[in-house]
Amino acid sequence: DSGDERHKDKSDRATTEQVLDPKTRRILFQMINSGIVSEINGTISTGKEANVYHALSSSEDLDTPDKHVAIKVYKTSILVFKDREKYVTGEFRFRKGFNKSDNRSMVKLWAEKEMRNLKRIHAAGVPSPEPLYLKRHVLAMTFLGDSKGKAAPRLKDVEFTDEDPVSRWRSVYIELLAYMRILLQQCKLVHADLSEYNILWHRDRPYIIDVSQSVEADHPRSLDFLRMDIKNVNDFFKRHGISVLSDKKVFQFITKHAEDAELDVDTLRVEVEKLLAERIDEEEDEVETEVFRKQYIPQTLDEVYDAELDAENLKVTGRNALVYKDLLAPLKGEKPEPTSDSIVTNTSASGQARASGQEVE
Ligand code: ADP
Ligand code: MG
Repeated sequence: DSGDERHKDKSDRATTEQVLDPKTRRILFQMINSGIVSEINGTISTGKEANVYHALSSSEDLDTPDKHVAIKVYKTSILVFKDREKYVTGEFRFRKGFNKSDNRSMVKLWAEKEMRNLKRIHAAGVPSPEPLYLKRHVLAMTFLGDSKGKAAPRLKDVEFTDEDPVSRWRSVYIELLAYMRILLQQCKLVHADLSEYNILWHRDRPYIIDVSQSVEADHPRSLDFLRMDIKNVNDFFKRHGISVLSDKKVFQFITKHAEDAELDVDTLRVEVEKLLAERIDEEEDEVETEVFRKQYIPQTLDEVYDAELDAENLKVTGRNALVYKDLLAPLKGEKPEPTSDSIVTNTSASGQARASGQEVE
């Protein structure tokens, strides 16, 4: 009720004030002075790692419908970012990229990563905000929402009022799987925090946001992250009554090499429809998912393997050390090994048997 609302308002304001340290304020003032935005309004979201503000743009150059802009301000004082280090260290280009003792440069790096990843995703035609401006830990992007400045809902909060909401959700599911494949194969990225919380429903499409932690496809653990993303997506749509593909079939669909021309969302939708139609037995897919998930899947970011160690191993022993090498070959368009249809996540024989769905023992 209103008492709670007032209380919430206060804590919102407190968080706002906390994140707006003098340096941040200076950057925001600069954005106004240089005409990138004309005013900065309230918070759209206050999170653990970032606050997102609504702003109005005055610039004629910015291609922002209705002049609404979202400004994401990464928090510079937060320990959470220490965890995220493992995402960065697995990527060679960032190995010498930052000074661990300097939170600010870490956070700046996250903002840069988000900008770079959004650019790639947006350029590939995957619905996502377009990054507009970056200054240190402050990122401006196109606003997703209505013309009055009301932000688009997260997929989690969407309720379809159609006559047949399930068929609507089913079509969103199919579209999303198509985007996940484009993300991997065209953008060479795995989202790594994909769920109904990081997808906004805007203009009748699922928009992908929050990609600062996304990893390169050649990250030693990218396919573990992909499995985690698939699990989140499948669980969510299953809760909405969709008879989803097994995690394994989704994984195979997303990682199966495609020519550029095939990475078109409508072509991909047809392919998913075909996979759904080809299923003989839904229960079989549920079992397949259960088996697939019994293999190692990190449940949270904290459980992720030691990416630094992986990177070292990779340098010494080369790609063969990677548990996913059989799947990576087709992804890169090389000739697949004879065993390429089995998903090998465990080098032991029982692991392979489990992975290919055979009985163990
Ligand atoms: P984090 O989860 O790290 O706090 P997100 O990038 O997920 O940061 O943004 C937090 C929330 O802010 C989102 O769930 C969404 O509601 C809102 N938001 C983020 N970007 C936009 C945008 N471009 N347009 C409208 N709302 C946004
Ligand atoms: Mg988020």
